[in-house]
Amino acid sequence: MTEFPASLLNGYADFMSGRYIEERERYQTLAETGQKPHTLMIACCDSRSAPETIFNCGPGELFVVRNVANLVPPYEPDGQYHATSAALEYAVQVLKIRDIVVMGHGRCGGIQAALDPLDQPLSPGDFIGKWMGMLRSTADQIPSTDIMTQAERQTALERVSIRNSIANLRTFPCVRILEEKGSMRVHGAWFDISAGELWIMDSVTGDFVRPKVTAPEQTMAKAAS
Ligand SMILES: [Zn+2]
Repeated sequence: MTEFPASLLNGYADFMSGRYIEERERYQTLAETGQKPHTLMIACCDSRSAPETIFNCGPGELFVVRNVANLVPPYEPDGQYHATSAALEYAVQVLKIRDIVVMGHGRCGGIQAALDPLDQPLSPGDFIGKWMGMLRSTADQIPSTDIMTQAERQTALERVSIRNSIANLRTFPCVRILEEKGSMRVHGAWFDISAGELWIMDSVTGDFVRPKVTAPEQTMAKAAS
């Protein structure tokens, strides 16, 4: 039998002796009554941008779909395999989630590949090239001038891509109809890995701004004063 990674088994042991004990009742309730997550989160596969960690969510709170560069494809009922569209369909039609968040992040390798495509595909299938091709026309609109650094171009495309994915979300009839009725909300977010900063998209202007959040230290300081 192939040896299972020891680091994962150790992590599981820690989980069972720690967090699972704390949340045992919650897991049991979720098993008996089913999941009722409040938010569909569309995030990148990047190991540094796990939504459950960033938003400190427990089991049953987020319905998460992760793909390379957190892209939402346009509505294409063409009989092909569409993993993200399938997750979206299930979240909206079955789970009745009422908030959708497209969360991008800094230093995204997928976005970097869209800005500077590789000369050769990584494999004959060129799955990443095809997938990131969805962003090609958007990437072409990011100026490539001496006055803009590579990091600035990348951040710009990471954020523009979120707006692009939100526009694609609205090509799905179920999303468009529910949003127009006011019973669903669509959001954009961008997480800066190095500083731990969360930026959220202003739904009117499309700009990314820092949300007002109360840090635990501030709460504690307030309680002590
Ligand atoms: Zn990424």
